Amino acid sequence: MSELRIGTHTILPGQRTKIALPVAKLYTDADVSLPVYIIRGKREGPTIFVSAAVHGDELNGIEIVHRIINMKRFKVIRGTVIFVPMVNVHGVIHQSRYLPDRRDLNRSFPGSPKGSLAARVANIFKTEIIDKCQYGIDLHTGAIHRTNLPQIRANVEDEVTAQLANAFGAPVVLHSEEIDGSLRDCAANSNTKVLVYEGGEALRFDETSIRMGTRGVIRVLRHLNMVSKSRRLRDVPEPVIARGSQWVRGSASGIVKHRYQLGDYVKKGDQLATISSAYGEELAVILAPRTGVIIGKQNIPLVQEGEAMYHIAYFHEDEQTIAQQIDMLSEDVASREIKEGM
Ligand SMILES: [Zn+2]
Repeated sequence: MSELRIGTHTILPGQRTKIALPVAKLYTDADVSLPVYIIRGKREGPTIFVSAAVHGDELNGIEIVHRIINMKRFKVIRGTVIFVPMVNVHGVIHQSRYLPDRRDLNRSFPGSPKGSLAARVANIFKTEIIDKCQYGIDLHTGAIHRTNLPQIRANVEDEVTAQLANAFGAPVVLHSEEIDGSLRDCAANSNTKVLVYEGGEALRFDETSIRMGTRGVIRVLRHLNMVSKSRRLRDVPEPVIARGSQWVRGSASGIVKHRYQLGDYVKKGDQLATISSAYGEELAVILAPRTGVIIGKQNIPLVQEGEAMYHIAYFHEDEQTIAQQIDMLSEDVASREIKEGM
């Protein structure tokens, strides 16, 4: 079985180990390192990474990784899983989406060893992790004060990636092209198939998103025959692929009264929210531009003109049924703690 080397460490088949990959020090002279947790099965199989906090304030993925690592019955039989719970470790320290040099790590790939701080972190992640993996799952949340409905973003025109997206079982799959400089773009150039999972909001734990994410990662590992299939996984409805999405923006600045929630079905022309002045006078009504399902939402009841308020996805299928399915799936996940070993 092939040798796996990460940094100065060699990880053997059947081994479970954690390593700290050094990255740029703090100016207090304190060392900084990327925490990496590796589980290798005894048998030959694929290598996959599960990464979180590429945006340093997106914390749900850290908890998803913790839950999987700590499942007593979680056993990798074939291949290798490389967990990187905090990729943007400097951002996590500062509770910030960005690096201290104000760059977005997810626009800094593939990076370079002599570039900016973001470029250096990106380059370490690329050479030490991405280049050694055939697959990857990158865990994200909405930006600060925005919540995303649990969803997969992936290039579903690639057949293998589409199968992984399906296996994950998130309620919604949004087809999206790779964005230049993103981790997913860098991985695609190395022929590593990557899913991005989005769920919840920055700087908060969202239990439903964490449970759906935990279950999704395990389902992908099962799909790749890396973990035991002795227990039957509950069937989840086939995820629906959105044919497009758009952000609805504030048409005035003021105080917001939201009328709809995440996962809601909205018809074209429905009143999504009203915006009032400081005196309570109605300044604007925000209407749904098309029929669809709300997959992202601003949380603060204050808006500046032009600011993104609702993210609405459109589907080929009947959107009302999709919204009902999302509701059922959310209730199902909320009602059951994920059993160890799935
Ligand atoms: Zn993110």
